[in-house]
Amino acid sequence: MSGLQLVERDPIATCKHCGAQAVGPCASCHGPLCGDCCILAEDGIKTWAICRDCDATGPSVSSGWRSVLLWIAVPIVILAVAVVALYWLSH
Ligand SMILES: [Zn+2]
Ligand SMILES: [Zn+2]
Repeated sequence: MSGLQLVERDPIATCKHCGAQAVGPCASCHGPLCGDCCILAEDGIKTWAICRDCDATGPSVSSGWRSVLLWIAVPIVILAVAVVALYWLSH
């Protein structure tokens, strides 16, 4: 099978932060990283190795989940307050 095309990478890719030999790409920006500069980020399902720049800005995965939880929790709280208010008004 020769249909699979492998991207030729520089065999001595260097870390984008410190210039040491890179061990793998950042999961977010795909920049080369060494073992010392990669930061492990978890989203509850998988662990990602990301660079310091992407760690500072925060992985989009976890912030997305946080806003989703907020969008679920806020209507439930509003609904609960409305139900209690209606209960007190009707008695
Ligand atoms: Zn480094
Ligand atoms: Zn990155």
